[in-house]
Amino acid sequence: MKFQAPKGVSEYFPERSIAFEKVRRELISPAKLAGYKLLELPVFEDTEVFTRGVGESTDVVSKEMYTFEDRGGRSITLRPEGTAGVMRAVIEHGLDRGQLPVKVWYSGPFFRAERPQAGRYRQFYQVGIEAIGLDDPAIDAEVIAIADAGYRNLGLTKFRLDITSLGDSASRAAHREVLVKYISKLDLDEATRARVELNPLRLFDDKREAVVKMMAGAPLLIDYLTPQSASHFEKVKKYLDKLGIRYAINPRMVRGLDYYTGTAFEFVHELLGAQSGLGGGGRYDGLMESLGGQNLSGIGFGLGIDRTLLACEAEGIDLTSQSRPDLYVIPLGEEAKDFSIKFIDDLRKNGAIVDCAYGDRALKGAMKGADKSGAKFAIVIGDSEISSGIGELKNMETGVTSSVTLSAINAKSFN
Ligand code: AMP
Repeated sequence: MKFQAPKGVSEYFPERSIAFEKVRRELISPAKLAGYKLLELPVFEDTEVFTRGVGESTDVVSKEMYTFEDRGGRSITLRPEGTAGVMRAVIEHGLDRGQLPVKVWYSGPFFRAERPQAGRYRQFYQVGIEAIGLDDPAIDAEVIAIADAGYRNLGLTKFRLDITSLGDSASRAAHREVLVKYISKLDLDEATRARVELNPLRLFDDKREAVVKMMAGAPLLIDYLTPQSASHFEKVKKYLDKLGIRYAINPRMVRGLDYYTGTAFEFVHELLGAQSGLGGGGRYDGLMESLGGQNLSGIGFGLGIDRTLLACEAEGIDLTSQSRPDLYVIPLGEEAKDFSIKFIDDLRKNGAIVDCAYGDRALKGAMKGADKSGAKFAIVIGDSEISSGIGELKNMETGVTSSVTLSAINAKSFN
């Protein structure tokens, strides 16, 4: 019997896993510089955390959740996104009783029963951040800038940032009234009407050509913002301008999760085809209260690691070169092996990446191993090297060798 991974999951193995790890690290490093701290959470929660948090009108909740009954008869769901679980934890552990905003980051696998295709998986990976407790537009700009910096750290350039404001509840109520009136005149099927009933904004997200056409003249939420919401959005834009972050206003943007209010944003990559969303997020005013917490506002994002890696590959960015070994050590004989084990350990502790020809291989085979490892340098250590304390360091790219004192080799010798 030959096992295969379940349909639609993403898996990473060397060399690609090196790039994957680097993407994750680079995406989160700007958040750490801004004071966000790790929240390590379970990958499953009570189903209601998501039905109440994410919203019943969304595809995520209505058809994509991995929900099952556990052995105690509880309804459990594998997390399809990060924010609802973060809120549950913040409320449960009273993290919102200290200084605000609470700033946290997370990273890990997420699960959605989607139709698998390039860049769209049933288990995928995200890094995310949340800043909870203050409604300051400068935090919106900070959150957006952190995502932008992550992509730029990786060297990505072919992406754009779309932003809009989904307004506060008064803005949405005013817009809903005119939108519902507009939609009532459209020729829609039963299932679509039912979806619209829960959240009429969903219709902006409908990709069917006929619907797109019908929605071309629909009233836009951004034109119904209350003065307060409009002023908040103006400030977000002003701060982004100050930070030199380029954006496009996209008033038809609808996020896939229902909890967003106010600022919403999305990073879209030019070369990724149908699944071009690199990451996105926004502000959520009612989420915490709907999960039984205080009425605090928050803002955050979720960035797809898988898609960001695909984007780097599409732009031809090499993320693996820095993890090549600096040195490949080839010990010949038992005494040389005794020496090499300690020699290698010292170099690693000094910060060099060092590999070794294990398995007592003959010189020819071991040199092949050095080639295959991609190491920058190789050194053969035998009896004469040990007695003289001098070895020949071979530059694997140029083939040039130079005599070196073994005790003088350190991490800097390979630059
Ligand atoms: P969302 O939580 O829907 O706002 O998604 C945030 C980001 O996660 C998206 O922009 C994608 O990069 C990534 N993402 C969401 N769903 C999937 C999926 N099924 N497969 C791969 N990446 C995904």
